[in-house]
Amino acid sequence: MRAVLRFIIVGVLVVACLVGFVIASYRFNWPWLGSVPGSSLLKPYAGILWDWLMVHLLIVIAVLIAGIVLLALTGRRRKGQAGKVPHPSSGWFNKGRAALKRLDHGAEIARHHGHDRSPEWPRVEKEHLLREPACVACGYKGEGVQVHHIKPFHLHPHLELDPDNLITLCQVDGREHHLLLGHLDEWASFNEHVRADVKHFYRKKAAHIRADAAWQKKVMHRP
Ligand SMILES: [Zn+2]
Ligand SMILES: [Zn+2]
Repeated sequence: MRAVLRFIIVGVLVVACLVGFVIASYRFNWPWLGSVPGSSLLKPYAGILWDWLMVHLLIVIAVLIAGIVLLALTGRRRKGQAGKVPHPSSGWFNKGRAALKRLDHGAEIARHHGHDRSPEWPRVEKEHLLREPACVACGYKGEGVQVHHIKPFHLHPHLELDPDNLITLCQVDGREHHLLLGHLDEWASFNEHVRADVKHFYRKKAAHIRADAAWQKKVMHRP
């Protein structure tokens, strides 16, 4: 859908540039452009069209500036470029969402099973993040990076503080490596092959992972 939209926008821009080019060629009497086929149709209107284009160019520039300002405010960046993940807490509108993502799903589920986080956990978590600061599945660092228990804390409470049971995964828009690779799309579930999967899906986006047939099979048979 987004690809179609991009195609249409690029197409309109290319046609607009060509028409503008031909009009300008008549407006300023560039003799070497008179040979563009069909362009003579525009010749009588070149003067009027040129003024019309200039007015609309100003409007387009104004809209572009407004769009850039709006993008800066919402903190959205162009997605899909490896290594460039939108910072979850940037932009005025995303502060609340970032706070939501700090929820400790593991602790919540463990509490249902009668286990509480060890008072040592914040220290162990911090130490792990010093050793492994970036998402192992994409290299992203920063807010939205979480420490995941490979063997879930609610089934293996004795492994809660075991450094070998920990792996850093991100939970940011468009990636969701913690949920998709660590928990197979369900926080109460887990993925015992997460170490192999982070390599297999290295730098892949959430949409790509969700579309993967092998991953879907795993999700169907998840614990
Ligand atoms: Zn986890
Ligand atoms: Zn990641």
